[in-house]
Amino acid sequence: MNDLNQARNHVLAQIQDACLAANRDLGQVQLLAVSKTHPSPLLREMYSTGQRSFGENYLQEALDKIEDLKDLDIEWHFIGHVQRNKTKHLAEKFAWVHGVDRFIIAERLSKQRDVTQDPLNICLQVNIDAQDSKDGCQPDEVVELVKQISLLPHLRLRGLMVIPAPHHTEAFQDAKQLFDQVKVFHVRPEDWDTLSMGMSGDLVEAIAAGSTMVRIGTALFGARDYSTKNE
Ligand SMILES: *Cc1c(COP(=O)(O)O)cnc(C)c1O
Repeated sequence: MNDLNQARNHVLAQIQDACLAANRDLGQVQLLAVSKTHPSPLLREMYSTGQRSFGENYLQEALDKIEDLKDLDIEWHFIGHVQRNKTKHLAEKFAWVHGVDRFIIAERLSKQRDVTQDPLNICLQVNIDAQDSKDGCQPDEVVELVKQISLLPHLRLRGLMVIPAPHHTEAFQDAKQLFDQVKVFHVRPEDWDTLSMGMSGDLVEAIAAGSTMVRIGTALFGARDYSTKNE
C-alpha cells in the first residue's frame, strides 16, 4: 500500500468514525481531495486509489492540471476566490464552483455555461463567523441570493460553503442552521443537498454539525510548499 492510499484510507476512516459518532449514515459525507500546489502526477496517483473529485484554488494551475489529466474521469471543483473576469474558464472546465458570493458572479457563470454541458453545480460561500478578511456573503444576504440564483438556467444551486476561523467550530452549527432554513423555501429543495465545510484540522467537528462534503488537502497529500508560487 503506498503513502497516498494509506493517507486516504485514514481520512475515510476518520469520516466514517465521525459519521458513526454523530449518528449519521455513512455515505452522507463526500471526500473532496484538495490538490492545490501539488503536481499532476501526484493527483494521478491519488486518482488510482479511487479518488474522483479534486478541488483546486488557483485558476491557471487548475487549468494546466485539467489539461494534463484529461484522460481521467475527474470531477473538478473550484474552491478558490472567484474573480469576476475569470468566470468563463470556471463555467467551461469545472463541475462545481464553491466560492460564489455575489449574484453577478452566478449570473456570469450561468451565461457562460455551455448548454450542452450539465448545469454547473455551485455553492454559495457565506462569511459565517464575520471575519474581516474573508470572502463570502453575509448570513443575512443568503435568503435573497438563493431566491435570485435559483432562477438562473444553467446552474444548480446545491448549498453553502463556509471556511470558519481555525478552532471556531461553533460556526459549523450556525452554517447548518442557515442551510436548514433555506431548504424550507427553496424552489427545488431536492437540489439543496450540500454543506461544504470541514478541512484537515476540523473535519470531525464539521461532520458532527452536518457537513456533507469535507475539503481535505494536508491530511491527504501532506504539507503544501508555496515557495514556488506567486499567486
Ligand atoms: C486549502 C483549502 C482546503 C484544504 O485545507 P487543508 O487544511 O489542507 O485540509 C480546504 N478548503 C479550502 C477553501 C482551501 O482553500
